Amino acid sequence: MSIESRTSKRLAILGSTGSIGEQTLDVVVGHPDRFDVVSIAAGRRVERLVEQARQFSPGVVSVADPANVSVIRDALATSEVAGKVDVVSGDEGLLRVATEPNDLVVAGLVGAVGLQPVLAAIRAGYAIGLANKEVMVMAGALVRREAAAHDVPIIPIDSEHSAIFQCLAGSSPNEVSRLILTCSGGPFRTWERERIENATVEEALAHPNWSMGDKISIDSATLMNKGLEVIEARWLFDVEAERVDVVVHKQSIIHSMVEYCDRSVLAQLGLPDMRVPIAVALAYPERVELDLPRLDLVELGRLDFEEPDRDRFPCLDLAYRAVSGSEAAPAVLNAANEVAVEAFLGRRIRFPEIARLNSAILEAHLADHAGQRVDDLDAAIAADAWARGAASEWLVKNEGDSDADSSVRGNA
Ligand code: MG
Repeated sequence: MSIESRTSKRLAILGSTGSIGEQTLDVVVGHPDRFDVVSIAAGRRVERLVEQARQFSPGVVSVADPANVSVIRDALATSEVAGKVDVVSGDEGLLRVATEPNDLVVAGLVGAVGLQPVLAAIRAGYAIGLANKEVMVMAGALVRREAAAHDVPIIPIDSEHSAIFQCLAGSSPNEVSRLILTCSGGPFRTWERERIENATVEEALAHPNWSMGDKISIDSATLMNKGLEVIEARWLFDVEAERVDVVVHKQSIIHSMVEYCDRSVLAQLGLPDMRVPIAVALAYPERVELDLPRLDLVELGRLDFEEPDRDRFPCLDLAYRAVSGSEAAPAVLNAANEVAVEAFLGRRIRFPEIARLNSAILEAHLADHAGQRVDDLDAAIAADAWARGAASEWLVKNEGDSDADSSVRGNA
């Protein structure tokens, strides 16, 4: 096939006004002949969604709140795309965007809301570019079974998992001995335990390498983010968690590695920029040019590695315990952690209590439900809901702690 006759790849984008969605559209702008945006969904950023609809002329636009449908229709009425765009909303809107005829669904939503549309897209036979890690954390076993049943590829957009995906190219599963996820170590990498125990919200939010949302910044400080990525890797690549290792690499240049049975280790390197894993997913199995700075190894001079400290950062081991405990346990841990992080950000609990809460809820689940399967969406949502309830109760019981009180005052 000649280059001229190649048709462009049709993209459905869930979360088009978020960080992943915007950077996806940035890649599309650089390659208008290669990609065609057929449907987009966003939450509350209505004005930006209207701008995107004008610029990319998708056939379907979805917004979270039904009240915004008429706002968007009116805003588009005077534009070139008037009459060519279907404006839809809510959960049904997400399903419509995910199942509009396409060649790749970019799953860029954050949290549990992305699970249902991704499952619907898989069942309709559409390939997934997955940035929404909660999909694999909440229901990895189920998503994996569905993707296999419908012969649908899931191409990771998380930077570590994209690195592994690239390092796995051309290999057979029985040749892979280990996956090695790299981890920046977060803002408390070099801190003593006592100092971490008294860390303030501001200190936990100050990530050394990345500027990110509050939730993922706290998850990086506790290493829960890396734990969730271990779970994600386990299901994305069908490798048991015991063969997924974590190594702290403070420069964030090696994005992850694969060790093969002959002890050859392949790594993927690059300056940290999410447009790289996005472009890999969009263009797969080809590559497209990105106008980004080159990695200069000489200027960099060195790369450092160290063992993650499991005592100072207990959340990492909780993820291993969850993924080997039951199919539902990762959903439980993820939901408990969301409640814990919110409580920490709201200055209701101290930093080390995030891990304590997560551990308490996970152990309570495993005591009664070890081996519980997640056979459908409802089972994942039920595990999530149970954990949120249990975590809220834990907070009420433990909030009276004098330590938590003094922390509230200290941080106010
Ligand atoms: Mg990541």
